[in-house]
Amino acid sequence: MQPNFSIQGKVAIVTGASKGIGYGLAKALAAAGAKVAVTARSRSSLDALVAEIAAEGGEASAYELDVRDVAAIRTVFEQVASDYGRLDIVVNNAGLGEGMAALDVTEEYWDDMIDVNLKGVFFCCQAAGRIMLEQGYGKIVNVSSQVSVVGIPDGVAYCASKGGVNQLTKVLALEWSGRGICINAVGPTFIYTPGTAERLDTPEFRDQVLARIPAGRIGTINDVAGAVVYLSSPASDLVTGTLLLVDGGWTAQ
Ligand code: NAP
Repeated sequence: MQPNFSIQGKVAIVTGASKGIGYGLAKALAAAGAKVAVTARSRSSLDALVAEIAAEGGEASAYELDVRDVAAIRTVFEQVASDYGRLDIVVNNAGLGEGMAALDVTEEYWDDMIDVNLKGVFFCCQAAGRIMLEQGYGKIVNVSSQVSVVGIPDGVAYCASKGGVNQLTKVLALEWSGRGICINAVGPTFIYTPGTAERLDTPEFRDQVLARIPAGRIGTINDVAGAVVYLSSPASDLVTGTLLLVDGGWTAQ
C-alpha cells in the first residue's frame, strides 16, 4: 500500500490569505484539489486570489475574518462548514511579524502581536475543533516559525507568540488526537513575502540571514506549501502535536 497524499475534494480554510505565504498556501491546497475558503480582514483583498484559483481550475471562495475577533472566528468557520457541508483542513497562517527591540516594546505592540499570532490561532483552533470533533476528522496546521525554538534579536514578542503556538499545538494534540484530529505546526525560516521584502531587500540583512541557513538560500512559499499539503493529507495521519521545521537547517546548528 502506498502513502496517500491526496486532498482531493477536502474543504479547507486558510487565514491571512490575502498575500504572502497564506496566498500561496491557498493556491497550493486548491491545486491539490481542495475547496478553499480564503480569509483576510477585507474580503475585496481576496478577489484576485479567488479569480486566480478559478482560472487554474480550482475552487475557492472569500470570507472576511479578522482573527482578533473571537466571535467572528466561530461565525465564519461555521459558515464555511455550512456552505461546504464539512470542514477538513484549517491552516492558521494569519500573523504579524514586525520586529522591535525589547526596550522599545509598548503594551499596544505586545498586545497586537499576541492577539493575532497567539490568541487568534488558539480561537481558530477551537472553532475548527468544535466542527472537526463532531465529524470525527480534521487536519489543523498552525503556521509557526523557526524562531519559535530559537531566539532572534528584536523578536521578543514574535518569538514568544510563536513559542506559544507550538505549545498550544501540543496540548490540543493531546486532547483531540484520539478523536480523528491531527494538529501540527510548521516552522519556516525566512520566506520572501510582502511582510519580509523590505528587510530581505537590505543586502546586509539578507547576508546575515543567508549565513545562518546551511541550505544556502532564502525559503520560498512553495517550500512551506509542501509541508502544509503533507500535513493536510492522509499521508501524515500518525503525525500530530509536532513542529515541522522548514528552515534549511537554521535550527540544526
Ligand atoms: P504577510 O505577507 O505580512 O501577510 C500576512 C497575512 O496575515 C495577510 O494576508 C494579512 O491579511 C493577514 N493578517 C494580518 N493581520 C490579520 C488579522 N488581524 N486578521 C486576519 N488576517 C490578518 O505575512 P507572511 O510573511 O506571509 O507571513 C504569514 C505567516 O507566516 C505569519 O504567521 C508569519 O508569522 C509566518 N512566518 C513568516 C515567515 C516569513 O519569513 N515570511 C517566516 C516564518 C513564519 P490582511 O492584512 O489582508 O487582513
